[in-house]
Amino acid sequence: MNIVYLKPKRDFPTIRRHPWIFSGAIQNVQGSPSIGETVEVRDSKGCCIGYGSYSPHSQIRVRMLSFDSAKPANAEFIDSLVKSCIDRRKNFFENPEINSFRLIHGESDSLPGVTIDLYDSWAVVQLASAGAEYWKDTIVNALKKHIPSLRGVYNRSDVDNREREGLSMENVKGVLWGEEPPELIQVKEGDTKIYVDVRNGHKTGFYLDQRSARAAVAKYSKGCEVLNCFSYTGGFGLACLAQGAKHVTNLDLSKSALELAKKNSRELLGCGEEEISQKVDFVCADVFKQLRLYRDQAKSFDLIVLDPPKFAESKAQLNRAARGYKDINVLAMKLLKKGGILATFSCSGAMTEDLFVKMLSDAAFDSKCDMHIIERTMQAADHPVSLSFPEGLYLKGYILSKSN
Ligand code: SAH
Repeated sequence: MNIVYLKPKRDFPTIRRHPWIFSGAIQNVQGSPSIGETVEVRDSKGCCIGYGSYSPHSQIRVRMLSFDSAKPANAEFIDSLVKSCIDRRKNFFENPEINSFRLIHGESDSLPGVTIDLYDSWAVVQLASAGAEYWKDTIVNALKKHIPSLRGVYNRSDVDNREREGLSMENVKGVLWGEEPPELIQVKEGDTKIYVDVRNGHKTGFYLDQRSARAAVAKYSKGCEVLNCFSYTGGFGLACLAQGAKHVTNLDLSKSALELAKKNSRELLGCGEEEISQKVDFVCADVFKQLRLYRDQAKSFDLIVLDPPKFAESKAQLNRAARGYKDINVLAMKLLKKGGILATFSCSGAMTEDLFVKMLSDAAFDSKCDMHIIERTMQAADHPVSLSFPEGLYLKGYILSKSN
């Protein structure tokens, strides 16, 4: 096997079980590993500290799979990693309230670059690193073997990160095994059912990571006039309607997402077109502009959800991102009625909890609103965070109440 030797001191994170080895931490490579191939990793004293996938084109040159010198990362080992992820989710498989959840959460589940979501009986796979792609067949076989109810595995590896990894963008979408998934799969989430388009939807089709936040927010919504910003297919709005919200406005730039939000609302409310239009609105517009329009029209709401896409991909973009977050939060705080609720999120890993709270406090000051944090949320439990990989905690949420 090819061997990667690490530099003195730079071997420390790997000894501490962080899964990423950056190119600058490498002293030398013995042999010429191909893209995604498993290499043995040795510390600066020459002792084996584990095995990882080699990625010659990426700054992250090795992604660790095994931290046990006695367990080389071979097909049998990968199979056992997939099985452990499935075993860890026993309570999700047995929960009658849901039929969809994340099966494998990349680095945090010891499978770097591998994201797999289960939608009813279909697994949707996203392989974003050289090692993830290298083990594709083994991973698909493991899913088949360890989930008896599985009807198919669908590939949604159409992600930008593959280019940084030097991976091909061809044949990244389509069935990898079993039956074609239906055009729309219905995701059950407590009292709501949400149609998911696994072929064309964002990520693998749906934002499963906000499941617990949707439930947390919805319990404040009874009788409320709700503004659901960045609604996608309606997630937060549907949860609020199911909990007795008076009216929901779903606001998003994507027409196709709003169409699905409409179909989801129709299904949930099970009533005629006219009644639906009295309970739900679908506004296709830019949140930044629409919030200003509402301000100019002196509109107000009881509950506002701000669940924007990732504004900061990296630390370098953080300042610009912070301005974006603050802008929408100032506007939303002003649009809230007295006693209203703001549920505000950031899915940018680079935006830390501290920075997010600082931004919220600046927004409250600028908007002259007296805001109190009443709840904190994070990504749902099927998106765990490994303590040796703090970067895995990317989704933060605050539920705030306004007292003036
Ligand atoms: N809250 C959703 C997920 C939101 S994902 C859920 O629970 O499922 C972010 C959404 O923001 C996407 O649907 C995207 O189309 C939308 N979006 C991105 N930029 C936008 C903008 N400037 N104005 C309105 N919508 C935007």
